[in-house]
Order: sequence, then structure tokens, then C-alpha cells
Amino acid sequence: MSDVYDLAILGAGPAGISAAIYAARAKLETIWLEKKFVPGGQITDTYEVDNYPGLPGMTGMDLGEAMGAHAEKLGITPKRENVLSVEDEGDVKVIRTRKHEYKAKTLILAFGAAHRELGIPGEKELSGMGVSYCATCDGAFFKDRVTVVVGGGNVAAEDAVFLARLCKKVYVVHRRDEMRAEKILQERLFACENVEMVWDSVPLEIQGKEQVTGLKVRNVKTEEERVISTDGVFIAVGIIPNTGLFKELVKLDDGGYIMAGEEGITSTPGVFAAGDIRTKALRQVVTAVSDGANAVVAAQHYLLTV
Ligand code: NAP
Repeated sequence: MSDVYDLAILGAGPAGISAAIYAARAKLETIWLEKKFVPGGQITDTYEVDNYPGLPGMTGMDLGEAMGAHAEKLGITPKRENVLSVEDEGDVKVIRTRKHEYKAKTLILAFGAAHRELGIPGEKELSGMGVSYCATCDGAFFKDRVTVVVGGGNVAAEDAVFLARLCKKVYVVHRRDEMRAEKILQERLFACENVEMVWDSVPLEIQGKEQVTGLKVRNVKTEEERVISTDGVFIAVGIIPNTGLFKELVKLDDGGYIMAGEEGITSTPGVFAAGDIRTKALRQVVTAVSDGANAVVAAQHYLLTV
């Protein structure tokens, strides 16, 4: 093997795993890096992925594991390393981790996205003490207790349904009077008898000393403020792309996503983006895995030109 890889894949969520599978089958000399110990990225925080064709009702953890095992079967596994920097040196891209420096002719950026914070008083202070961003990870601590979910998207709806199975009562605080979550998820949510919707309300402050005791909210229509007594606050207000390392490498849009179309081609030759990290209309597992495949094919085309 030469000391310059054909391809480096950064990230082992659905997009990165799919890219690894396609790269292995294309016999590309590939280095694959991921800092987490389990494959699957954001889906490992998801209780159930119910819209991936052929695998209805699969848990996120199981789906991530199955995808990782598929790659492993083809002889490719990610190295557990935290990427510190990535530089474009023309025909060669240089990736530095704490211990190593890797060189590759092409690069697929598949670092995905992370949860967005509310940025209100009490959020940081009470993180891990009742404030959580992952219902499937932390929900069990709130068995038979009261929780609040903040948000109106798919994640908020799924988290609230998941928590409703465990908790005595679940409030869903949303800043508008309708949710953006898929209709099927809304139906499941509204069917839960122990869920109460708190519409048109923005969170102002998470209260508590060593443990969450309440969430102060303001109704944006009536301006009325109230405190919802709760043991936990689950924040599900969207995602932000993990593009901090790539600001100088590729062009980003105003939201910080890497500007790239379906083939993953970015503003920098030889650098491709796949999954939630790129500009796209629909961020789902099914689009992430297709991105990974497309990016490898685009990388192969590029390799023929250098
Ligand atoms: P999302 O779809 O962007 O929804 C974020 C929600 O949080 C929105 O309802 C938004 O309100 C609200 N929000 C944003 N900032 C807020 C703030 N500062 N204060 C209060 N509320 C705020 O995000 P998501 O639910 O985390 O999902 C992320 C991505 O993953 C989406 O693309 C989603 O489709 C995808 N996903 C897919 C599945 C699936 O296919 N099964 C499951 C989970 C997630 P507004 O509605 O008013 O903007």
C-alpha cells in the first residue's frame, strides 16, 4: 500500500458507512476515521427508525450496528481517532489526528450534524441533571416522572412518544401552533393520553438547583408566562452541521452546511460531502446512505482525472 490513500472517509454515520461499503467493493485503498465507539452516528440516539425500507421498526442502535457489521464483512472498519485538522494540498488531502497524519487523494466528509442548543439560562448548568438531548439515552432515568420535550420536528415527536411509554406525564413545548414532524408521527403523538401539547410557547429558563424542577415558558400569542413543573427537559430543536473543521476547506452555506449537490461535489476538487453535513432538502437515513454511495462514485470519477 502506498502512503497516500485513494480515499479518506471521515465519519461513520449512515453516509460514512455507506461510503465505506461502496469504497470496499470498488477496492479503493481507504482510510476511515470516526471518533465514536459505535457506528451509526445520530441514529444511535433514535429509539426507532421506522422509515428505512425493508427494516420497519428497527431500533437506531440495531440499524447502526447492522450497517457497521456490513462494512466489516467487506473488510473495512473505522479507526477510532479524533480528526483535528484537514488541509487541501492540491492532489493530496492531509488529515491530522492526535497521533497520526494521513494523506489521501480524495476525501468524503460525512461528519453529520449535532443537536442544537436552546441557549437559555439553566440549560448548560443543569445538563446531565435533568437536561438531556437524547431521550433514548436518558429516558429510563425518568420512569414514572414528569418530563418536557421542546421542539416540533420529527425528533421531538419521536422523543415524546418514547417518553410517554415511560413517564407519568409528558409536555411538548412548541413555539408555533402546528408541528413540522411527519403526520404519522404527529398522529402517534396525539394518541398518547399522557401527552399535553403546550403550543405557541417559547422556553425562557430551565429551573432547578442540583436537579431540574421546572421550565419557564412564555406564550407568544398571549405573552403569558408560566412555569411547568418537571423532572426533565429533553431538547429537540434541530441540528447543526459538524463543519467546524472544514470552514477553510470547502464553501459552506449560511447555515454552515457544506455546499454540495447529490454527487457530493464540493467547491474543492477531490473533496466530497455526504449525509446531513451537506446542503439538501431531506435529512434522513435513506438520503444519507444514498449520498455515501454517490460520493464514492464521484470520487472514483475524480481519481481517473488525477
Ligand atoms: P427539525 O426538523 O429542524 O425541527 C426542529 C424543531 O425545533 C422545529 O419544530 C423548530 O420549530 C424547533 N426549534 C428550532 N429552534 C428552536 C428554538 N430556538 N426554540 C424553540 N424551538 C425551536 O429538527 P429535528 O426534529 O431535530 O430533526 C433533524 C433532522 O433529522 C430533520 O431533517 C429530520 O427530518 C431528520 N429526522 C428524520 C427522522 C426520520 O426520518 N424518522 C427522525 C428524526 C429526525 P419550527 O417548526 O417553528 O421551526
